[in-house]
Amino acid sequence: MYVRGVGPRWAEMLSAKGIQTAEDLLYHLPFRYEDRQHPRSLDELQPGEMASVIAEVRGAILMRSRKMPIFELTLGQGRLALKCLWFNATYLDGKFNAGQTVAVYGKVEASRSTSNFKMIQPQFEVLPDSSDDAETRLLEVGRITPVYESLGGSRLASRWQRKVIFNLLESSRGCVPECLPESMLARLNLMDREAALREVHFPPEGTPPALLQSWATPAHRRLIFEELFFLALGSELKRRRLRERAGIAFATSDKVREAIREVLPFHPTAAQKRTLGEIVSDMRAPSPMRRLLQGDVGSGKTIVALQAMLVAIENGYQAALMAPTEILATQHFLAARKLLERSSRRYRIVLLTGSLDSDRKRLNRGLINRGEAQLIIGTHALIEEKVEFDRLGLVVVDEQHRFGVVQRFRMMKKPNQAEPDMLVMTATPIPRTLALSLYGDLDVSVLDELPPGRTPIVTRRVPDERADEVWDFVRKQVKLGRQAYVVYPVIEGPADDQPELDFPDELAESMAQSNEKHAALPSKTLRKGKTSGLFPKVDPGAAGAKSGLKSAVAMHEKLRKGPLAGLRIGLMHGRLDADEKEIIMRQFQRGEIHVLVATTVIEVGVDVPNATVMVVEHAERFGLAQLHQLRGRVGRGAAKSYCILMTGQRVSEVGEKRLNALVQTQDGFELAELDLSMRGPGEFFGTRQSGMPGFRVADLLRDRELLELAKVEAERFVDPTTCDGTEAERARVWARLKDAWQRRYGLVEAG
Ligand code: ADP
Ligand code: MG
Repeated sequence: MYVRGVGPRWAEMLSAKGIQTAEDLLYHLPFRYEDRQHPRSLDELQPGEMASVIAEVRGAILMRSRKMPIFELTLGQGRLALKCLWFNATYLDGKFNAGQTVAVYGKVEASRSTSNFKMIQPQFEVLPDSSDDAETRLLEVGRITPVYESLGGSRLASRWQRKVIFNLLESSRGCVPECLPESMLARLNLMDREAALREVHFPPEGTPPALLQSWATPAHRRLIFEELFFLALGSELKRRRLRERAGIAFATSDKVREAIREVLPFHPTAAQKRTLGEIVSDMRAPSPMRRLLQGDVGSGKTIVALQAMLVAIENGYQAALMAPTEILATQHFLAARKLLERSSRRYRIVLLTGSLDSDRKRLNRGLINRGEAQLIIGTHALIEEKVEFDRLGLVVVDEQHRFGVVQRFRMMKKPNQAEPDMLVMTATPIPRTLALSLYGDLDVSVLDELPPGRTPIVTRRVPDERADEVWDFVRKQVKLGRQAYVVYPVIEGPADDQPELDFPDELAESMAQSNEKHAALPSKTLRKGKTSGLFPKVDPGAAGAKSGLKSAVAMHEKLRKGPLAGLRIGLMHGRLDADEKEIIMRQFQRGEIHVLVATTVIEVGVDVPNATVMVVEHAERFGLAQLHQLRGRVGRGAAKSYCILMTGQRVSEVGEKRLNALVQTQDGFELAELDLSMRGPGEFFGTRQSGMPGFRVADLLRDRELLELAKVEAERFVDPTTCDGTEAERARVWARLKDAWQRRYGLVEAG
């Protein structure tokens, strides 16, 4: 489509920013607005506030101090003046002329020398004067002016977007198609689409600034609702389609119940009973189960899943459990084997992970394929190794929130077989609304009760200087018969360890693309491999010392020889091969290792109730969700447990907030909400890796209420008995849904 003001070269630049159509451009909303109708005058300003000011240029000077050049612009209004300072801004020299009118936006600060105010590095725009064209003047002066994030360089800056969008809106007057049914708009009192787009870019006179800044004008709400509606509609549709597929109707006879009773090692909590009830009732139904079991760390999800797997097995099907790391898969394997030994029946359990040797892999694949293995526990290798199951009845995905995995499991059944049931478990405390949107097509069960006899974990922050006290404390706990973890952010060197090393290559690479932190790593380190070979040995001390980062390998050496000498100390990280991991895990489980020095590979799922101390060094480098998971490794038994967060000197403001939050609460949901508000949902889940759709206008945190509304409307729309749209409207909604989902979210897969 041709848009006035957009040539082919610019179109290319826009395309790189994800703006490919005129519509994309219209949905690129201003991130703030400046009220140039009633600008603030200098005498109203208060130090500390963010303000937008329009004033006349009185003087401009580039000061070359010894440290760096500072550009100083003096704006005046009557007898008052405002100084604006930009550091290292030689490029501003010559940009301003006395007498020009300039709009600046920034934080007001008191000036030390005079009674005037100053702003440091404000945003600015030289306003048009009579020599500029009428259109520019119209859009920028004497009105509420939209301010856009630059789409690349000064050419595609705010002013350019204002014009292009204005022209686009003018030329499409009366022909922006409505995409929601009239009846829905009327019911929810929503604005029509064209008016909403116009007002969101060029708000009418008198729109309250507070509503604009918080995206709460009727125009904003309409566009946000629209986006969320199509998200909810897609989820609802997926869910309905799935229900129509042929699944397995498992039976729960006395024989099945008896089989479960035989192995159950304790009385389940009320929450465990309830969630198992929900799961089993799905399993009995003839349509495929898609359920999310959500429960904070330590709430006891594993045993619930194991019972569900027994239901499948006792019905003559295979059950598979996939864990995100080899350590966790190994632990599940060992635990399940031990549990099932109590049974009078003979179950065959196999483990399948990437670093098993190829003979064992081949053997296990055969057992799975011929149906001789009933319970299969593994990592992504289950998918990677193209295992074909004989009769797959239930798939459990532990500690996961990735869509793709669930979809790919479907490929592993034999053709013409019924769709297996699927249970996804997560300890990531997902706030309810996020669960709704992330897992819109899953039913959710919540384990909201911890097993009895837990004592709260004592969480403390300790500065590095007091490390000696920490090691003393660890020694004392070991003397009492307890065990401890000590966690470091890297294995050997600064850019070294990621827990993702425990994932298969492909996943690691896709993560690398979606995450700057990973992208910064040399690709070689993302490859899975053994300790030798691919990875040249780095001198542990040296690499760590350079970055000031302590590493697991180096500290394992140091602690063993120094502060923790005499204790049995193990080392665990993602680069060990499967056997080594298994041995160490087993030794730690049996209490033969007192202190396990590790990386975040032990972050999820590891369950050793006798461990009571979790020491995290460089705690400021970990995310809130991650620290919460790490802390969840202790406090699993009746003994009092401790989480010690050690930090160096420099902790950012956000870092402080995170650590203090951890000290204050142990409630995962509370922490998740906090994390979300500090970082935004995309960060929390690592947008692309979790399949979290990127939104154009909506914000899940801010727009919860609209999301709930969208869910209700989506359900209503899909159901022919409640839908009140006309035939033409329905056709338009479906067309748009297809377009929106495929393009924006990529979540609708064929079939
Ligand atoms: P998570 O939900 O974090 O995966 P786990 O399934 O690993 O939690 O369970 C945590 C610990 O609690 C394990 O040691 C498990 O054996 C124990 N546990 C689970 N349910 C109960 C229960 N009903 N009574 C006593 N202990 C339990
Ligand atoms: Mg678990």
